[in-house]
Amino acid sequence: MKKSKLINKDKSKHSSKREKNLFYSLCDKNHNVIKTKNFKNSLLKSGLKINDNRLYNLFQKLDTYGKEIFFDDFIKIIRSSELLVEKSLCGELALPDFNDFSKNIDKMFDEVSNIKTGELASYIPPLAKVDPEKFGISIVTTDGQVYQRGNFNEDFSIQSICKPFNYCFALEELGLDFVHKHVGQEPSGRKFNDLTLLVRSSQGFQDNLTNIPFNPMINAGAITTVGLINSDETYEKRLNFIKNEFAKLIGWTAKGKFNSKFPRFNKDVAREENFTGFNNMAIGYLLMATGNLPNKKNKPKKKVNQKHDNFDFYIEPSVTEALKLYFSICSLEMTATEVAMAAATLANNGVCPITQDRVLTQKTVRDCLPILQSSGMYDASGSFFQQVGLPAKSGVGGGVLLVVPQLMGICIYSPRLDKQGNSVRGIEMAKRITSKYLIHIFDGTMTSNDRVDPKIPISRWQANSCGEAIWAASNGDIRTLERLASEQKDLSVGNSDMRTPLHLAAAEGQLEVVKFLIKQGIKPVPDRWGGYGYFDAKNNNHKKILTELDKLNINFSMPNHLVDNPEGKTDEVANYDDELTVSELLFAAAGNNIDRVRQLIAKGVPVHAGNFDSRTALHLAAAEGNLEMVKLLINYKHPINVRDRWKSTPLDEAKRENRVSVCNFLKKF
Ligand code: GLU
Repeated sequence: MKKSKLINKDKSKHSSKREKNLFYSLCDKNHNVIKTKNFKNSLLKSGLKINDNRLYNLFQKLDTYGKEIFFDDFIKIIRSSELLVEKSLCGELALPDFNDFSKNIDKMFDEVSNIKTGELASYIPPLAKVDPEKFGISIVTTDGQVYQRGNFNEDFSIQSICKPFNYCFALEELGLDFVHKHVGQEPSGRKFNDLTLLVRSSQGFQDNLTNIPFNPMINAGAITTVGLINSDETYEKRLNFIKNEFAKLIGWTAKGKFNSKFPRFNKDVAREENFTGFNNMAIGYLLMATGNLPNKKNKPKKKVNQKHDNFDFYIEPSVTEALKLYFSICSLEMTATEVAMAAATLANNGVCPITQDRVLTQKTVRDCLPILQSSGMYDASGSFFQQVGLPAKSGVGGGVLLVVPQLMGICIYSPRLDKQGNSVRGIEMAKRITSKYLIHIFDGTMTSNDRVDPKIPISRWQANSCGEAIWAASNGDIRTLERLASEQKDLSVGNSDMRTPLHLAAAEGQLEVVKFLIKQGIKPVPDRWGGYGYFDAKNNNHKKILTELDKLNINFSMPNHLVDNPEGKTDEVANYDDELTVSELLFAAAGNNIDRVRQLIAKGVPVHAGNFDSRTALHLAAAEGNLEMVKLLINYKHPINVRDRWKSTPLDEAKRENRVSVCNFLKKF
């Protein structure tokens, strides 16, 4: 009996290790307790929202506790959403550096808000009347992080943004083959409201020609897809069905806890579309004439009245219904955050991030996105895709929706349009976002370091750019270096101390690596202390390497290390076998990235882990004069007297770099 109790106890100890790290990462000085406020802020800073229904129970419970939370209570509080909390605190959500990402988008938003070019849509009065200055953006990730700025909560007319979704609903109901008997998949190169249903071949043979609209993103194709959805039902039922599907896409089904409201139908806009939509009506009849709209309604059987020179003019209701429904859906109104949530549902393969409900099948989403990519941005679809590289759809209401597959949905709203009918600021924001971030679908092979992958934390990105090569060099692993060279990786990139593969190869006596690097054209560069690999080789008495480096005929300057008291107290550096993570920790400490260091603590990384030069986070924080980081590390019991390869302590580093406040602080210990 006793024994089994013991086992259970051990088990519970083991299972709470992860939770302990999470709790620990939120601590200040006292490691037994966390501040409620800090916990809340940390979740919100990672991009999660207070009204996220996945966190509803957690926030409710949190409010019943006081200002501080002990570990046992913490466990109870996070139970309802432990995975999400863990991802948030460990920096493992879709956008791990949400703070940094938000700052960059803020900056782009501010710049783009100065652009005043473009014209409002003027074909119907309600669109011509909107405030041209409106500008909002919302980004929702597949993990339900939400970034929003400006008029993100403003209702706008979604117009053609409904087209990809109508297409999805038709695909779900009728399947790809059936739908594409009535509408094609090809870009038209024609205006969105073009009347020409060009002759297309459904099989690709010239002798098997059918008249179908080019694709579901132009009006002819969109009226067709709408016409196909629940075509046997009444207009009201069909509209209601589509509104409900939109509601699922935008997370309304989170039972009102999330901000999404049920899609709003602006009947005035629909009426205006109807009053002036002769072009669309012509398209509708053309679609009927070419057999692309289902014609299931019975013709009137009434006999013709022979007495009068007249007859009852018949209008096929399936055409008018398809048009009425199309006008109605174009006239739905949503906010940028709601549309971004629908886009995020597409990015998340059909599962709404916030409700976790599957709204569309994976297949439907995969069938829809390529059409958006080729035809979503009117006549600018080709150049837009070249520059931005993302499936997108715009509407004349000023909205632009973008899908970053597996990562996020974006919606920008700004009603001034360019000549093609795309939102000017929307296009500009999209361009800026992809020129900063590696999210263009064809960015896969990019190796340049000036654009960043938003899926990777900045410090990880920095560590990746040099870490593997440095470790390979110090271990004599030429094969890895050859692979990195063949992948076009820059083998001269240094770590947070500007130590490069050449420094480490020289320090560790890896003669073949030194020869390999020189053959690759790598030029020796100075490290943080102005030192070259030459002195690493010299200090460690690697004569053959000195001979190799002498051949380069360079006047190597001496490094300037400071060691106050080499015989002084020496604390242990922790050995952590994930080298890239250690390198990342050091980059985060050098960059004063408190959030990231806390995330690494949450993942169980010891704060005093040392790298190949026995450098630790405290060395880096001290050398860079990051007092806040120094304090944090010491709160987390980072030992003070750790010594690097040259026996310098963090205090020596602060002195050498003349970091007065850090020196004063460290001297107290
Ligand atoms: N309701 C508009 C039309 O059919 C949609 C325009 C658009 O956003 O492309 O003309």
